[in-house]
Amino acid sequence: MSSSFLKALSKTLGPGRVLSGAGDLFSYAYDAALEKRLPGAVVLPRTAEEVARAIGVAREFNVPFVARGAGTNLCGGTVAPTGGLVIHLSRLNRILSIDAARRRAWVEPGVVNLHLHRALAPRGLFYAPDPASQKACTLGGNVGTNAGGPHCLKYGVTSHHVTALEWVRPDGETSRVSVDDPGFDLTGLFVGSEGTLGVATKIEVALLPQPEDVQTFLVAFPSMDAAVQTVTDTIAAGIVPTTLEVMDRVTVQAVEAFVHAGYPTEAEAVLLIEVDGPQERTIFEGDRIRALCAKNGGTDFRTARNEAEREKLWEGRRGAYPAMARLAPNVLVEDGVVPRTRLPEAVRQIRAIAQRKNLRMGLIAHAGDGNLHPNMIFDERDKVETARVQEAGQEMLRVCVDLGGSISGEHGIGADKRDAMRWLFSPPTLSLFREVKRAFDPDNLCNPDKLIPVVESAPGPRAGGPAPAGELAVSSVEEALDLVRAIRDQRGSLFIQGLGSKGLSIPAGVPVLVTTGLNAILDLDRANLTLTLGAGSDLPSLRALLAADGLHLHVAGEGTLGGILSTNASRRPPFRNQLLGLKAVSEEGELLSFGAKVMKNVAGYDAARLFQGAWGTLGVVVEMTLRLHPLPAEVLEASIPVLPNFSLLPAAELHRKIKSAFDPRNLFNPTLFSPYGD
Ligand SMILES: Cc1cc2nc3c(=O)[nH]c(=O)nc-3n(C[C@H](O)[C@H](O)[C@H](O)COP(=O)(O)OP(=O)(O)OC[C@H]3O[C@@H](n4cnc5c(N)ncnc54)[C@H](O)[C@@H]3O)c2cc1C
Repeated sequence: MSSSFLKALSKTLGPGRVLSGAGDLFSYAYDAALEKRLPGAVVLPRTAEEVARAIGVAREFNVPFVARGAGTNLCGGTVAPTGGLVIHLSRLNRILSIDAARRRAWVEPGVVNLHLHRALAPRGLFYAPDPASQKACTLGGNVGTNAGGPHCLKYGVTSHHVTALEWVRPDGETSRVSVDDPGFDLTGLFVGSEGTLGVATKIEVALLPQPEDVQTFLVAFPSMDAAVQTVTDTIAAGIVPTTLEVMDRVTVQAVEAFVHAGYPTEAEAVLLIEVDGPQERTIFEGDRIRALCAKNGGTDFRTARNEAEREKLWEGRRGAYPAMARLAPNVLVEDGVVPRTRLPEAVRQIRAIAQRKNLRMGLIAHAGDGNLHPNMIFDERDKVETARVQEAGQEMLRVCVDLGGSISGEHGIGADKRDAMRWLFSPPTLSLFREVKRAFDPDNLCNPDKLIPVVESAPGPRAGGPAPAGELAVSSVEEALDLVRAIRDQRGSLFIQGLGSKGLSIPAGVPVLVTTGLNAILDLDRANLTLTLGAGSDLPSLRALLAADGLHLHVAGEGTLGGILSTNASRRPPFRNQLLGLKAVSEEGELLSFGAKVMKNVAGYDAARLFQGAWGTLGVVVEMTLRLHPLPAEVLEASIPVLPNFSLLPAAELHRKIKSAFDPRNLFNPTLFSPYGD
């Protein structure tokens, strides 16, 4: 590391805030994964301004930099390129405000997750995401990885609870964004971007009132299948517990030897269940769950009778990782996710892999979300065993992808899973991710070697058909692709319209792609509670159709689903929280595909969320995968869409960056956006 760089950092941040000794650097060479690389320097800023100044120095010296919270991520996400700069945010650790009336809190990124929980408890409030690492991990890291946790089944993951952000961008400038802003959901893009788009310096989170009652149960099962079947049955019965955590026998035995939580060590699987809400309901749900457990062969049904017993049961679950870590020098925690109904198959295949590779493995699953953690123990000094474990991990992720799932439910991609991103995303989609990254970080200095695989040659543009004109109704994705290619070949532009109910004014002579023919139901998975369908489907008719089947969409509004998403017309619940996957036609006439029919998925940028409020300026949404619910929404509130002037939005510059990544030629809905500021 050049001494002039270190001097410049010390001068900018003051004495004692820059670490460069060999011992210090070694402590920052790794996180909770296996990847190790020695950084050139570590800075410990105390304010957002200091973060910006440190980034300024890194840019001046062309040194890559990486934000680090507690370093508990399990994917090598905070390992800087050799000689790079680590920005350790532990000293930005103040809870800035708690607004109990609005149920919002502003925190700095270094606040430890559990500290926020403790600060909120006396006010009768809580912050829902509670990773099992919550004693150590920070809110900034949770934002970076879009962390989940054992209670996320009912309440959702970090992206459901972050309402605004301030972040220092890779160019050293500061941006402030909020989910309430008109335009693209930039907050949603930043959450889960693994520190590749900048460094969060202030985070606003939504708070929830503590429930009146909580009931916690532990049940033993004769097989993993039986435990998982109980999970599916519970959700199908219209009960959404806060927690449905499955642990296998290997894990339970390790846990018992470590924390003595009273878990039944002879069971093949145990299920930890928690429900909360008004007492009348928790008692009713507890009774139903007990009956479902019995039906599936569950025994030894235990109910925590008081807070101490509840805490003991949780100690067992939270102790699972350290309990496995006691058994060998290293644990590799994989993190795959599948549609919930494919869990038994995933478990079978993952176990077969571990057996074939002669590995010691315990299994934990956030089963309600279909999220599996195979924990493989080994000794990294044994290179052969380590290679076997890593190969097995990759094979297990491949199983998840093949079963319609994803390579990460909550831990992120980091350095470890970059290559596996190719299994999940097409070259055009990966190329879009690269464009988004480039738009924010053209010099590729901000956590440069994470999340997106290295080189991916996207196929050259395919030729379109003859020049289209007028109103053009498409009835298949292929027709939409052809149409956009034809427009691209003419260097023309295109308006996108659903039922035309949002009053978008379209100049005469510009072709209009009408989506209402994209209205097929492509996959209605009642057991998994997901629906994949054409984006031109009309919501009111769809609602009626589903209700006849006892199913509900928690989306408000009138018109096509594509129109409701694009105009952000579903105020409560917000559309983004119901959206699991999306396909769109890009300005190159390629099919972009994000997400899957899984409840949690943190692979890649959450680009699907950008389409909310985009008013058709990013591409033609052709398909969506949505959550279904066995019960109607408690509140369904639509808003009257107001067309924003994208060039005048407070975050206009960020909107231009996104637009330039998605649609540099301004092909889609061209009058709404003047990306180059004219
Ligand atoms: C025992 C154990 C249990 C775990 N249980 C869970 C679990 O239940 N659920 C779960 O989701 N994860 C879990 N994890 C993984 C890990 O704790 C989470 O990924 C957590 O969110 C990381 O927080 P951190 O503060 O340690 O972040 P770090 O590891 O320091 O950073 C994580 C990522 O976020 C980026 N980042 C950090 N701070 C910022 C910032 N201010 N701005 C922008 N980017 C930033 C980093 O560059 C990095 O890419 C577990 C890990 C362990 C070891």
